[in-house]
Amino acid sequence: MLDSLFKPRAVALIGASTKELSIGNVIIKNLRRFDYKGTIYPINPKAPEIRGIKAYPSILDVPGDVDVCHIVIPPEMVPQAVEDCGKKGVKNVIINTAGFKEMGAEGEALQNDFVERGKKFGVRIFGPNCQGIINTDPEFKAYCDFTFTYPKPGHISIVAQSGGVGAVIMQNFFDLDVGMRMYASNGNACDISIPEIIRYWGNDDETRVIVLYVESLDDPKYFMDVAYEVAAKKPILAMNAGRTEEGAKAATSHTGGLAGGKATDLIFRKTGILAFDDAQEMCQAAVAFASQPIPRGKRVGMITNTGGPAIIATDTLVEGGLEIPPLSERAEKVLKETMFASASINNPIDVVATAGAPQFRSAVDVMMDEEQIDSVYINFVTPPFVDCESVARELAEVSKHKRKPIICNYMTDKPQWLETTKILNEGGIPCYDFPGTAAKALVALSKYHELRSRAKGNVRNFRDVDKGKAEAIINGAEKSGIGILSASDVYNILDAYKIPSASWKIVSSTDNAVAAAESLGYPVVIKADSPKIIHKSDAGAVAVNLKNSDEVRRAATEMEKKLSGKKFNFFVQKFLTGGKELIIGAKAEANLGHLVMFGMGGIYVEILKDVSFELAPVTDTEANEMINSIKMAPLLKGVRGQKGIFIKGAVEILERISQLVSDVPAIQELDLNPLFAFEDKIVAVDARIKI
Ligand code: ADP
Ligand code: MG
Repeated sequence: MLDSLFKPRAVALIGASTKELSIGNVIIKNLRRFDYKGTIYPINPKAPEIRGIKAYPSILDVPGDVDVCHIVIPPEMVPQAVEDCGKKGVKNVIINTAGFKEMGAEGEALQNDFVERGKKFGVRIFGPNCQGIINTDPEFKAYCDFTFTYPKPGHISIVAQSGGVGAVIMQNFFDLDVGMRMYASNGNACDISIPEIIRYWGNDDETRVIVLYVESLDDPKYFMDVAYEVAAKKPILAMNAGRTEEGAKAATSHTGGLAGGKATDLIFRKTGILAFDDAQEMCQAAVAFASQPIPRGKRVGMITNTGGPAIIATDTLVEGGLEIPPLSERAEKVLKETMFASASINNPIDVVATAGAPQFRSAVDVMMDEEQIDSVYINFVTPPFVDCESVARELAEVSKHKRKPIICNYMTDKPQWLETTKILNEGGIPCYDFPGTAAKALVALSKYHELRSRAKGNVRNFRDVDKGKAEAIINGAEKSGIGILSASDVYNILDAYKIPSASWKIVSSTDNAVAAAESLGYPVVIKADSPKIIHKSDAGAVAVNLKNSDEVRRAATEMEKKLSGKKFNFFVQKFLTGGKELIIGAKAEANLGHLVMFGMGGIYVEILKDVSFELAPVTDTEANEMINSIKMAPLLKGVRGQKGIFIKGAVEILERISQLVSDVPAIQELDLNPLFAFEDKIVAVDARIKI
């Protein structure tokens, strides 16, 4: 329970300062300005008072109980301050001071020191290297933070690892005149973690939407547990920075966390968190989530009193996967009676610029009653010749019943239409300044519906696998200190998991290579198998389409010459033609498990990076989605007379790989590249496993 942190009855501040431009002064100013309802105890050994509030020389001198104590003193003094707080019985400290784990070993030692002391006394630690918390609840009005935006009460709670981003998000809601419930930015998060905060807000009725910004997840498994639990209760919208490889590197050096990049987005999807690439888009969507119901489908009813914006919005809606279906005859009949003669009475309903309250109301009512409409998009420009306030009142009235979500692109001069704006805001109608922005918010609501209602599928458990054999091979390799498995080990593991590969033999001499080729049947491929050669074709260690013994002998001799000095075996394999090249792989992620990857092989993976990922264990539904979500998916299904591939086989290989890496977690990386995919079978011709 984080009640004592977010609902503090008394806040102290070690490092309270009389200097106006110091954090130790600004936090007191903020508590005051936000009208904090509890007691403030500035701690300062010299000053008798700060900002007119009596100060105490030490936290131990404070007369009353303290729920939260800020610590804003140099890093080397922080451990003693935490100790003092412990002795005083302080429940939580917010350590704003920086200079700990994020600064390297010395700072980390200091951090470990105060974490220990906190544990000893049962003091919970928020931070260090952080901003703090805000709670707009009128009963508390706790502004334990040094930021400068003073939000009004609302239903969106924000947690951001980075204070800078958190502040931007909070400012954005403020600019949109949308209230906020609680705020937290916990920096290094040495004790109180983001999942713990999310879980707390999951149980906070006034929080209707959680907005999350992370750069890395320290404990992805714990995060997932909490995310499953809370996302089932209320929408969580999230943005993950560090999506690109460059970004991920920067994230690691920034907060010293783990994961990031792909894994985090997969965790979001799997647990039902709606992910965004852009912080502003996320904020704008959050406004809609805070006041509107989730649509039950993709069908949008549009109402407009101006032409152009409807066209822009339509593009964005349709690109976002939404539909704008025609209305029923019944609806048309109603509209014929209520609309002006110049109005257009299908979807979009163009009520025309002269439309007043009765026309708007009838149009919205029709959309609410239409069975084939799931949500309503409105373009509302405020014509000076219309009573816009009564239009707004009708819209607010309908919105109150929350039958279907309403989103409004509201085009006006706010200072002139203050009252109209106020009615829309208080009616909880999300208003946006641009048609595209409004449409994107609606797309987000609809995506969320899709995400939450998507079938999860089942994890198939193959009983025909030989887990013991795979483990034995990996154990053997580990014992002999091998990092990259030999071809025979790799293919034996594939066999143990019934993952089909082209038939093969491993031999150590040219003569035996010829014999192996004879027994496999021509044409064949020969490859050099050695732990030193990772990318065989680059090293000249692959010879394909060898049709007879002479060609095998020649290729083998040439390979020996090229690789002179290196010890290697000949890997002789059946040559396959006519398939499409696929890649399937897996990669271990620290503290999480494995990511499984699917894509088109060859140039598609190298140039277009046309791949998809999922977290193991991969369900049947997810495996199908992985295949369907790559850009080249139509090619795999068959287009323009070209035959498709054996999709069921690809699904099964994904499932079997998922089972393999889950059974044998020592596998760090696994690559089947390429597999040849045919109409009726899929066969691996190259495989690599790193442990
Ligand atoms: P590496 O990836 O180490 O360079 P591969 O075994 O993947 O080596 O071989 C390189 C390429 O040769 C493959 O991408 C594929 O196009 C082709 N190739 C390899 N083995 C076969 C095979 N058995 N049948 C047909 N083509 C093959
Ligand atoms: Mg390869």
